[in-house]
Amino acid sequence: MSELHKLEGKRPFSLTQLPTEGKLYHYDRDVAEEEFKALRKELREWQTRLYAEGKQKLLVVLQAMDAGGKDGTIRSVFQGVNPQGVRVHSFKVPSKEELDHDFLWRIHKVVPGKGMMGVFNRSHYEDVLVVRVHDIVPEAVWRPRYEQINQFEKLLHDTGTRILKFYLHISKKEQKARFQARLDDPSKHWKFSLEDVEKRKYWDDYMAAYEEMLEKTTTPWAPWYVIPSDQKWYRNLAISRVIMATIKEMNPLYPSAEGDFGDVVIE
Ligand code: ATP
Ligand code: MG
Repeated sequence: MSELHKLEGKRPFSLTQLPTEGKLYHYDRDVAEEEFKALRKELREWQTRLYAEGKQKLLVVLQAMDAGGKDGTIRSVFQGVNPQGVRVHSFKVPSKEELDHDFLWRIHKVVPGKGMMGVFNRSHYEDVLVVRVHDIVPEAVWRPRYEQINQFEKLLHDTGTRILKFYLHISKKEQKARFQARLDDPSKHWKFSLEDVEKRKYWDDYMAAYEEMLEKTTTPWAPWYVIPSDQKWYRNLAISRVIMATIKEMNPLYPSAEGDFGDVVIE
């Protein structure tokens, strides 16, 4: 079940062929929400084990179009997890200092350490997406980045990091509805920007950039999952399933006590 949306192999494909509708995979929202809540509870327990063990690392990368649901995913899926063991990083337009370095510099500094879970809200993938679509650097610069990213992620993998990458796939129609909802509700205005409307005009270019990026950077050590995300309840469930299956496979163990505590009496 958890592998349902995993991108296998590096073959060209079209995102328009991959569904944005979670409804197609799950007929009953109530059942999905029940399962999701159970998984979230389990995640809290297993994250504690990962932290207690203090050896392995888990990195979750979230990419999506604007209003694709990155924030909502973080809020829902990781709700209640011990904040000491999880770090969320949001990557915005790079600063002058960041631009003075290679594109992976700001990323590498914040990858999770031992026992930690890291969540990236946007990531190094922006450097082959927004940067490509808006010609921020020439192709001769961004094209080699696919391979540079693969090598970087291989390094992380070889040094004890499990990497899961999720593309939250929404339809153009759903994006419109979500923008409209933000416009209609003053308490959501802070989430809206004219820049988002501007970027929407480049939807097809973004899809082409996403397609090539997904195809070139899905690897055995850092796979992409294309999650149907028009229905938030399905998106949450599908992502939780993958994270939980992975953490169980990592099988973090509580460390054994350093001594024999059998005779210890607390007065
Ligand atoms: P929200 O969904 O709440 O709007 P956001 O992730 O869109 O959150 P913003 O501050 O609105 O956050 O936008 C961040 C912007 O930074 C995005 O438009 C993104 O494309 C841009 N960005 C991120 N990384 C890079 C990069 N390496 N080069 C250029 N632009 C980048
Ligand atoms: Mg934004």
